[in-house]
Amino acid sequence: MDSAVVMERERVRITRRPACYLCGSPGDLLYANLSDRQFGIPGTWNFLRCSSEKCRLIWLDPTPVDDDIPRIYRYLRVTHQDHSRAERSSPLGLKKLLQVRDSYLALRYRFPGGERDWDAGRLTGVLAYLHPAKRADIDFPFRPLSGAPKGRLLDVGCGGGEMVRLMNLWGWQAEGIDFDPLAIENAKKKGLTVHLGSITDQRFSDGSFDAVVMSHVIEHVSNPIQFLREAWRILRPGGRLALATPNGWSLGHTVWKRNWIHLHPPMHLFIFNPPALAVVLRRAGFAQYFCWTEPRWADQAFVASRSISRWGNFDERLPQPLSLQALGWLMASVQWLGLRVWKNLGEEVIAVGIK
Ligand SMILES: [Zn+2]
Repeated sequence: MDSAVVMERERVRITRRPACYLCGSPGDLLYANLSDRQFGIPGTWNFLRCSSEKCRLIWLDPTPVDDDIPRIYRYLRVTHQDHSRAERSSPLGLKKLLQVRDSYLALRYRFPGGERDWDAGRLTGVLAYLHPAKRADIDFPFRPLSGAPKGRLLDVGCGGGEMVRLMNLWGWQAEGIDFDPLAIENAKKKGLTVHLGSITDQRFSDGSFDAVVMSHVIEHVSNPIQFLREAWRILRPGGRLALATPNGWSLGHTVWKRNWIHLHPPMHLFIFNPPALAVVLRRAGFAQYFCWTEPRWADQAFVASRSISRWGNFDERLPQPLSLQALGWLMASVQWLGLRVWKNLGEEVIAVGIK
């Protein structure tokens, strides 16, 4: 800890991370002097990329010291809305989209449970196939958990508990965990089983869960292997981890480079790629693991990255014009088509680990 940056409201100590967390190779400077583009968090940050061609992990340097990481999150204007970005910004309106989502889930995953019901309303689910980015969003974590025997499930970073609610409806006994007290209070009001804090302070028993789910969490933690080892410990043998994280090899990152929304300095400490994430799962103890990429939220990532490229920032509260959303849809569809040939260019890496 050789230097510190003073923030307006909080003091966050920083430390250098010159070598790769995964393989120890030196990092090459990828982007210099980036600042936060969404929440006004002070400070400038670099991203380094592992010099080993086999690894190519990307990481934040300097990086906040562990104890001060929670201070960064006090800058977020609104944490953990009840509905995902995709739903909030839908030009069709939330209700319609939810109907398509639920119908698609019923068609593909027998959601909310029981036998398939082929009434006309449910057939609107086929519309989800017209929007690859939103469909990939809806698919998580249904696709990674598909076929797994249902039991106790933990959603890490559960926010307001929407996924906990959905997983309960799907037949799991779902619980959530989050470090945001307001989000947890909100989820409790809905009668959901949720815990405040980090996965490590809960001291869950060994093997007490059948599934652990985390979306956009692993890139925020300073020791991802230790973090996933805790997920591994609380899973029963054969239990499943499902996670999603931005993909450093994505078409979005390739096109937008330093303006790519998912760099998110200083909140994103690591940007993984499929083989690098596989190394994390293996070292965390998972006997079997699969990583693939999907165009999840690729339309929204396009809109946000374009905004950063043009104006230097992105405010997700502002409504986006329909023409821009249509362009986002087009770019996501291009990505989806490209995935038929180049399997690693999806916006996000999805990983499944089996204990
Ligand atoms: Zn490396």
